Amino acid sequence: MRYEPRHLNLHVTNKCNNYCRFCYISATQHDKNEFFLDSNIMIRTINEFSKCSLNPNAKIVFTGGEPTLKFNDILNTLSYIQESHINYSPVMFTNGGLLGAIGKYRKNKVISHMLNFSGLNKHTPKSAVNELKKAGLNGITVSVDANHTSFNDNLKCHQVPLYCIKELFDQLLDQGYGTAENELILDVSYSDAEKQKSEEIIENLISHLNFKKKGNDYIKDNQIIIRRGVVGFTLVGRVGETNVEQLKLEDALDLTCEKLNGKKEGYGPLCFNYEHGPDIDSNGDVYFCNGQSFLIGNIFEDNLQNIFLALNTNHSINEKYGANIKILNFMSNFTKQNKRNCIGETLNILIQKEPDLLKTINNAAGLCWNLGRNKDLQQIILNYIINY
Ligand code: SF4
Repeated sequence: MRYEPRHLNLHVTNKCNNYCRFCYISATQHDKNEFFLDSNIMIRTINEFSKCSLNPNAKIVFTGGEPTLKFNDILNTLSYIQESHINYSPVMFTNGGLLGAIGKYRKNKVISHMLNFSGLNKHTPKSAVNELKKAGLNGITVSVDANHTSFNDNLKCHQVPLYCIKELFDQLLDQGYGTAENELILDVSYSDAEKQKSEEIIENLISHLNFKKKGNDYIKDNQIIIRRGVVGFTLVGRVGETNVEQLKLEDALDLTCEKLNGKKEGYGPLCFNYEHGPDIDSNGDVYFCNGQSFLIGNIFEDNLQNIFLALNTNHSINEKYGANIKILNFMSNFTKQNKRNCIGETLNILIQKEPDLLKTINNAAGLCWNLGRNKDLQQIILNYIINY
């Protein structure tokens, strides 16, 4: 099977104005160990992506951390896409805090430092949204739930106050988001423990906007706010932190591998990760899927075409990424009949044959997207593959 990049996820930074408990990339509010993709590298990567992806409807996804920390770089990249008539759809994931910053939140020391850094200090929420729209941002997804959002200001600014989210949605809807051409998506994900608080936050927002529920979404006149997210989500947790409940691999595989468990056709949420890849991390690392499972290269070391060529030619002698390339190719062959590749799927088959593997992985990682970060686990999986 050939790996073809479908959509391009650009993790513009690992820095964030929030400090969500479940953040799987462990985004930081501090300047230490921060990484950024500037517009030069994003434009170069988009051009390389266009040469190796066959997907004419690809999305260019600006994500993070909080991508608006590089507001001007995103504007430059959007303008480039617009001017060069690249036919991809640029969209952005945000927690909405810096775009919607008003009042006390805007004046907070940490937040005002971030606004200065991003260039958003020169903008009101209205002018910031206007700039994004003019530059061609097609759609925007705002994460709003009890993890990302609080009813009021909170001292540590770990969450975005709801009044900033209301301001942002007012501006987005005023300026034409919330249509089929310019999707406005509300991403609501929570564990059972956060269900009530999250639903209260959403209810308050929707009633402020004067929208009505229709099915899963919200409508008013000819505008629509699409609701997405994972309800009953198990907190994943910051890598290395133990204060949140960890999703066991066993549960993840149950979620993921409906098809392989003999249930009806279809995939759980994690299995769409390959469909959404590749993922370019803020330090340039390239993961073949959106779950950031296995590292296959770095855009500061090589171009995206070469990275995918190495993967497609099973170039496992590559010193740095060879082990991952070997694992991915094994998985690709192993799951050929399923037409899609997924780490979870393949591991599930391996685990059915080798139950001990599950114990080892569960003890050491917890989730498939941590597997490719851990060299010892890669070796364990390789050993199973070699002996298979
Ligand atoms: S808003 Fe997103 S990137 Fe920022 S801390 Fe929360 S989950 Fe992480």
